[in-house]
Order: sequence, then C-alpha cells, then structure tokens
Amino acid sequence: ERIYGVSRWGGGYFSVGDNGNLQITPNPDSPDVRIDFKAVLSEIQQKDVQFPVVVRFHDILRSQVARLNTAFADAIEDAGYQGRYSGVYPIKVNQMREVVEEIVYAGKPFQYGLEAGSKAELLAALAMNTNEGSLTVLNGYKDEEFMRLALMGRKLGNRMVVVVEKYSELLLLVRIAKELGIDPIIGVRAKITAKGRGKWESSGGDKAKFGLTIAEIINAARYLKSEGLDHCLKLLHFHIGSQLTDIRSVREAIAEGGRIYAELHKMDFPLQYVDVGGGLGIDYDGTASTNDSSRNYSIQEYVSGIVNGMKEVCELEDVPHPDLVSESGRAITAHHSCVVTQVVGEIRSNSSGVETSAADDEHIIVSNMRDIAENPLLNGDDRRAMQQAFNDASHYKEQALDAFKLRVLSLEELAKTETLYWQIMQRLHTYYADEDFIPDELQEMAHSLSSQYLCNFSVFQSAADTWAIDQLLPVAPLTRMNEKPNVSCSLVDITCDSDGKIDQFAVGREITQVLPLHELKAGEPYFVGLFLTGAYQDVMGDMHNLFGRLNEVHIFSYDDDPEDFYVEEVVHGSSVKDVLTIMQYNPQAMASDVKRMIDRQVAEGNIKPREGVQWTDFYEACINGYTYLKPQKP
Ligand code: PLP
Repeated sequence: ERIYGVSRWGGGYFSVGDNGNLQITPNPDSPDVRIDFKAVLSEIQQKDVQFPVVVRFHDILRSQVARLNTAFADAIEDAGYQGRYSGVYPIKVNQMREVVEEIVYAGKPFQYGLEAGSKAELLAALAMNTNEGSLTVLNGYKDEEFMRLALMGRKLGNRMVVVVEKYSELLLLVRIAKELGIDPIIGVRAKITAKGRGKWESSGGDKAKFGLTIAEIINAARYLKSEGLDHCLKLLHFHIGSQLTDIRSVREAIAEGGRIYAELHKMDFPLQYVDVGGGLGIDYDGTASTNDSSRNYSIQEYVSGIVNGMKEVCELEDVPHPDLVSESGRAITAHHSCVVTQVVGEIRSNSSGVETSAADDEHIIVSNMRDIAENPLLNGDDRRAMQQAFNDASHYKEQALDAFKLRVLSLEELAKTETLYWQIMQRLHTYYADEDFIPDELQEMAHSLSSQYLCNFSVFQSAADTWAIDQLLPVAPLTRMNEKPNVSCSLVDITCDSDGKIDQFAVGREITQVLPLHELKAGEPYFVGLFLTGAYQDVMGDMHNLFGRLNEVHIFSYDDDPEDFYVEEVVHGSSVKDVLTIMQYNPQAMASDVKRMIDRQVAEGNIKPREGVQWTDFYEACINGYTYLKPQKP
C-alpha cells in the first residue's frame, strides 16, 4: 500500500486487503461490500476469457454519477444558490454503449444528460438520452446534417442545445431552423482568456481552437435579435481544458465567464445556463498536487468553487443565478475500468554472463576489469572506493568497445569484459540501495540494471496517453502486496516498438522510472493492473501491430452479499480475423490460399496428408483467435 499508493489514487474504490490482494469497494457508501480482485481473476479464468482483459466495475460508474450530482446539490443548498445543476456526460470520454447506458441510467434521478461533439455522437445521444428534463449539449464543428439532427431532436421533445463554435454555424442554424419552423436552443462558446494549467492548457486563451470572441458573441446575440430569435439564446459555454491541476484556474474561469453572462444579461439577453465545460481532474499519481497527472483539490472543492464563484459574480452584478451545467467526463469514468495484463517474461541487460576466468594472453582491458571486480574494497562500505570502482569500470567498458571495433579485442574478450562490468554494477547497486544519496550517474546505472517486465498488452491500444502525452497511470500488482517487492522494473508491451513501454510510476510520493514488483515464480501467473483507464484510454487506442480491442468483463456487486459479485457480461475483443478485415484483408481467402499451398506440399509428398489437415486447422484457429499472446499453461 505504501509503495503503490492505492488509497491515494483509488478514490475510495480501491484498497489493499490483509491478504495482500487488491480489493474493490464499488460503492464507498456501502463499505462492507468488498470484492477481492483475486476472485475476479479466478472468475475470468473460469469463464475461459483470455488475458489481457478490461475489467469494468459498473457500480463505480453509478457511484461517480451520484457523487458529482450530489456534490452540486449540496453546494447549491449550502450556498443558497438560486439556480439548479443540469450536468451532462461528454460521450467522447468513453463512447462504449454499456458505459453511456449505465451513466444515463444512474443519472435519471438527477436529470443528468449527455454531451456530443460529432455527428456520430449526436446520433448516439439522440437515441440514448432518455432522461426526461435533461439537456443534450452539442459541441464541436457542425454541418447542415448536424443542425437538422439537432432540430429533429427538438421536434422529439429533447432539450438539444446547439453550441455555436464559430460564427458561420449560427447563420447555418438560423437558416435551417427557419426552414423547418423549429425553435432551436442556442448556446455560444466563449473563448475566454483564463487558461487551465496542465497538459490541456491550450484549450483556453486567445489561440483556442473553438469558440467566439467577445465581439462575436455580442454580434451573435444582436443578429439573433434581428432575426426574432433572441429568446432561443439560452446558454453560455466555456471550457479551459481537461485535467485542470490547479483549483485557481477554475476560479479564474468562473470569474471571467460569470462576468460575460452578467453583461449579456444586462444587455437584455437573459441566458438560462452557464456551462463550465470539463476539466475536473483525477489524482492519477496520488500526490494531490499540481503535477500534470494530479490535482490539488477534491470534487467538493471544485464544485463549490463553481457554485460560490458564480453566486459571487451574480450578486455583485445584480443578475439572477443561472442554472449550472458541467461536462465532466474524466471524473465520471476514469475509475470504473482497469486493464489486467499478465507478466509473461523478464528482460534484463545483464541476465546471462560468460565464464570470466583469466586466459594466458588476454588483453589488458579484460585484466583491468577483472581487477576491479575482484578488489576486496568492492565488498566493503567505503563510499569513495565505490565511486572509483564505478568510474574505472565505466572507463574500461568504453575502452573495450572501442578496442573491439578496432579489431584489437576478440568477441569473447568483449563478452568477458561486459560480464565483469555487470557484476561490478550489481555490487554497486546493492551498496547504494541502503544509501540516502545516490550520485546522478549511478542513478542511471540503477535504471539500466533494472528489469523490464514483459506484459501481454499493447500500450498503443490500452494506455495511449502514456505514450502520446506522458500521462501517468497508476500501476500495481493485483496480489502479493503483503510481500516485499524485490524487482525494480519498468513495463514493456508486446508490440514491436520500443515506445511500447511504461516507465513512469508513482512510487510512494515520488515519480520514478521503475516500479518495485515481485519476483516471478514458475507456474504462478503474475498479474499487473493498469488503473483509471476508463477515461479516454478505453476508446482512444489504435491497432498498432494489429493488436486489437481487449476482451472485457463487466462486474456488478450484490447489495445483500458483501463479498460476492457477478460477471454480467463478457464482451469479446477483436479476433485476428476482425483486425485483418479492418485493414482490407479477406481472411477467408487467406485461409484458402494457405490451404492451397499446404495441399501442393502434400501432393509433392513433402507433407503427410494428416499433417496437412492439422496445419490447415491450426492456421484457421489462429485467424479466429485473440490477437494477444496465449500464455503457456503452467
Ligand atoms: N467538454 C469539452 C468541450 C471538452 O473539450 C472536454 C474534453 O476536453 C470535456 C468536456 C471533458 O473534459 P473532462 O474529461 O476533463 O471532464
């Protein structure tokens, strides 16, 4: 727990049990309901679902929807705020039907709606948002079809808000609304100057990709008045970036957005809603700080910053409190899913050495390296001797490589020198493990001595942001957390790409390049979880190396049995056939081609007929199989 910080990033949902296994408390309001992850692993194995697997806890989704809506309701009541909260879930954060369905279901008592940012998402929102009285907020760039669909939603009685991202969209919307004779609900997105802090800070500010300038907003309002549609202008929207790390940026945005709302009100455009966009962050690294992968506030502080900030502006300006809309996606979905991958091997830079005894006419570089390795000081605790050993060994290692390239050192001598070098580094590593201060160059050595645990998954499919934007995701073993981990390692995936790795971890309160994990035991599978993958990671991955979507299990808990759970659904991931078809192959034709090749070998007597049938079946089984490695049965 101390190393992996589970309770710091776990949001009350994850903890470590006395047995060392990861535990899930799907609803922190019912702390007695605890699911042991080892039991989930057994269930997955029993159902013959192959790893890697995405495990979704639907109770967590429900709980997060309730948490956010309750936080707003409480803050509104505490502040005596006059408006209400009318939140929406932005589909783009996780578009999976089951996820959206669950959120809509959980949001029913709160009139919680949906946000869509593309035509496909709008089509989904039209069909899925069945919560009466809720909003459907439509962001993103729009074409004529988009506008017609939004107006069709109005015709069906839905509260579809078309948020104008650029001025020309307003002209298009007004033209089609008049043609169809349907009153739209119109929002305008403001380009406000308050900027988020963190990786998404370019979402706000003058150079933001979306939104209208203040001048354009005023022109838009006046244009609507001239068209007799000013009563349709209902919402002011802004979004200053996802994963806001510092609460100050939320307050600044509210102060600025609130002023725009108030001024519009005074200009006789009484908007009903202020939509503050997304941005509610997640504490991925558990440091509760302004680190890029953290945030220095809680959900309650975020919500109360919005409610109280807006109340303050409205009271100063003497305008009514607007209804509040937020579009939190990350905070709703991040915790509910994780990726379970099995460690299938260990890669070490110094795994196997050669025999290093002295040869009669060996080169002096080899003898010098051996002298260091056999120096009794190396087994002592003299810090200076250690530093000197490191300097000398590094020097001879470089010399050995140069000498090899110049054909002075043989391959065998180079191997001996390297073996001795790694023996020295291993000894230094052990010495420095107990020291408080490690010189920089020796820290690098520690990193190169660390292992790489080869995990059966693809970073590009399952944790795209760790590769694309250095996002930190919490990683922890699912079992054995009551044993001291003694292997420092980074994780590498099975793609043929050296970027396919995870080498940024939160260990204790530090961000490190290696994570302490447990030694692998023969015949005992070791599983590692990648957590908080429910927001963006679940849906942004690609098929690099043709590794497809993962198998999924959806877990629900029973209220009346605190330790039990059930797998409501298994969703099978992509088969090889699926990913090949997406890439325009014809798997059936491929199987026929390969069969023809086998038949030819059979006809020529190179393969026996029975063997030919076996090869044909094997090829077809692989084409129908999972795209990931099939670990050997213990
Ligand atoms: N709304 C808009 C307009 C966005 O662009 C985003 C994401 O960047 C969101 C909502 C969701 O933000 P978050 O996931 O930070 O809640």
